[in-house]
Amino acid sequence: MRSEVTELREITRLEQVVVSSSIVCNKCGKQAMYRPLPDKTAKDEQQIQMQSFECSFGYSSRYDNENWSFELCEECLLELVRSFKLVPQGFRSSDYDLYDETKHQKIFEHWQRTGEWEPFKFHSYEELLEYRKLFNEDYFASLVGKYYPERLRQYRRKSEAMHAAREFGGCDPAL
Ligand SMILES: [Zn+2]
Repeated sequence: MRSEVTELREITRLEQVVVSSSIVCNKCGKQAMYRPLPDKTAKDEQQIQMQSFECSFGYSSRYDNENWSFELCEECLLELVRSFKLVPQGFRSSDYDLYDETKHQKIFEHWQRTGEWEPFKFHSYEELLEYRKLFNEDYFASLVGKYYPERLRQYRRKSEAMHAAREFGGCDPAL
């Protein structure tokens, strides 16, 4: 017969835990440190964001059987993308973007030249007007003012007429 006698005892044991990890950008050598939360001191260090890339090469390649992996910080990644001929799908886009592929490419090329990302730069005045209900009045007027300054007075006048018509229960006059 076996019997066990038990009592409550506190057991302390050692465990290996990750206290910090680091990723280095292969292009510029910048290092990002990551510490598990809730270590608040890691906040600043996490400002550097890294992306991982993996390439596997196949039979017809001169690098057949090689597997490359590397990290790029966002700054270096952007620099690389800026040298592309064609805009990467999804680049600086969301589901709400109001441009097609052709405009996306033009916006991209404009950004490559100037560093400015201007999603509405290549819309005609008429195309812009189609979106006016999606934006707040002042922001939309600022877009018209920026890209079609010669139409701004006309826009404001008709916009006021539109508001007046609405107040009296009428429908929107064409702008
Ligand atoms: Zn870098």
